[in-house]
Amino acid sequence: MTELVPDVRTVAMRWWDVRDKVVHTCMRIGRDPSEVTIVAVAKKHTAAAVREAIAAGVTDIGENYVQELLDKQPAVATQVRWHFIGRLQRNKVRQVVGRVALIHAVDSLALAQEIDKRAAAIGVVQPILLAVNIAGDDAKGGVTPASAPMLLGAFAGLANLRCDGFMTMPPEDPVATATAFNGLRELRDRLRAPHLPLPILSMGMTGDFEQAIAAGATHLRIGTAIFGERPAPVDDTLT
Ligand SMILES: *Cc1c(COP(=O)(O)O)cnc(C)c1O
Repeated sequence: MTELVPDVRTVAMRWWDVRDKVVHTCMRIGRDPSEVTIVAVAKKHTAAAVREAIAAGVTDIGENYVQELLDKQPAVATQVRWHFIGRLQRNKVRQVVGRVALIHAVDSLALAQEIDKRAAAIGVVQPILLAVNIAGDDAKGGVTPASAPMLLGAFAGLANLRCDGFMTMPPEDPVATATAFNGLRELRDRLRAPHLPLPILSMGMTGDFEQAIAAGATHLRIGTAIFGERPAPVDDTLT
């Protein structure tokens, strides 16, 4: 989107705006705003911007890249929940497990086993989400909905990993967004059980978080609307 007028608002002003929209959307559809966590996605933004966000009231920070997480955590050094929302390579698992409250995008049994092994080695239980490619978009990561039951079953055998729910990326076609978000909630409703409550649905970004709230999202991953445009295009080979 081309902006004719530069966005000169501070991170705090943008955060209050996002927070307001989330609360109003919840009230409009009869959801309790306390059920919805806003994860402020800080990829490509500085530790100073993260500190500004926390000072304004942000409680959850999302990072996509392991190196950025390792650089910013000590530089921020405040009580805040960190989330790893990017694709995690198996050889970087040891740098992430135990350092984040939630790993959002687990998309294979091999990755889950690696996380479990590391969590056992350092004596923690690592909460994760299963990434589901709900719209069947070839370009997007995540497992097929059909393979979710088998993976959840396999995860149950990993003592140091706890699957708390699902995450998804929106489909390329914005017309299909609401269908995809509702599909993820329906999949969760179908697969959850007393021993496996799957309370978390991580879906919704800057362009579609209101639709995600309406579909039942519990975790919104919002970057641009809080931190402004990212300074450089994201190079996915940098993970
Ligand atoms: C960058 C990113 C977001 C946030 O995107 P915005 O459109 O800037 O809100 C959310 N989720 C994931 C996985 C991302 O990589």
